[in-house]
Amino acid sequence: MLTVSHVADRYGVTTTFMVRALDQIGCRNMRPDSALSAATIARFESAFGEKIGAARPKSSTDAADHDLPLRAARTGPKPHVVRIAHEHHTGKRRNGYFEKVLLDEPGTLHAIDAHGTREGDPWRGEEAPGQHSFFEHTGPHAACGKQVKAVLGDRFNPEDMSANLCRRCVELVAAGKAFRDSPWERDAGRTYFCEAYLRLRIDGRVVVEQCRLRDFHSGPHRTFDGATWDIGVDDYVPVSEDSNRRITEAS
Ligand SMILES: [Zn+2]
Ligand SMILES: [Zn+2]
Repeated sequence: MLTVSHVADRYGVTTTFMVRALDQIGCRNMRPDSALSAATIARFESAFGEKIGAARPKSSTDAADHDLPLRAARTGPKPHVVRIAHEHHTGKRRNGYFEKVLLDEPGTLHAIDAHGTREGDPWRGEEAPGQHSFFEHTGPHAACGKQVKAVLGDRFNPEDMSANLCRRCVELVAAGKAFRDSPWERDAGRTYFCEAYLRLRIDGRVVVEQCRLRDFHSGPHRTFDGATWDIGVDDYVPVSEDSNRRITEAS
């Protein structure tokens, strides 16, 4: 969940501005650590997005003659760290719950600008060596387009010869092309669907199950037929006619 200060950071405005802006759209008594729903962020964006865009100083003279308080606050986009991302994670069951765990052998390492994901950057653009975070949905796409499940706090270093780096990601990071805008900064009014899917083998037959729900849906993913899953094959609940069939993950 994004807080007031996360969103302020993302737009390069002060939290004071953010709190006042939220007050104007009817969210009273917000504090820097108050959580904001996606709907509130969308409302903030439609009310203030243009103003904030317009407030971005183009030159020092431009920045000097203004009447918007936030103009002085904006110091330009903060450079974010492009991070290492893993395509897969594993899970273990603990007290009946699945807990996501990083793989010891994660395979190819990809690059992702977490700022450009729905969740935003868990470390707010700073390096956080040794830390990691999992995506709540099926996962965003790395710079090369591969879908990834986990992001590390560590910077993706395209010159690290000792690591098993994705070649396409290396090229993009080295060329400075791995940066992505946050979804909140992209065009509003678009309809998104959940892109989650599972590749299963049901009695030997490979089936791709796709989630038919809208983006940002709560609860598990659900197919047209009503099969559901949350994390993957381990918590996949088939429709009744498949319940006696052998279901495994298809690679
Ligand atoms: Zn890659
Ligand atoms: Zn879904």
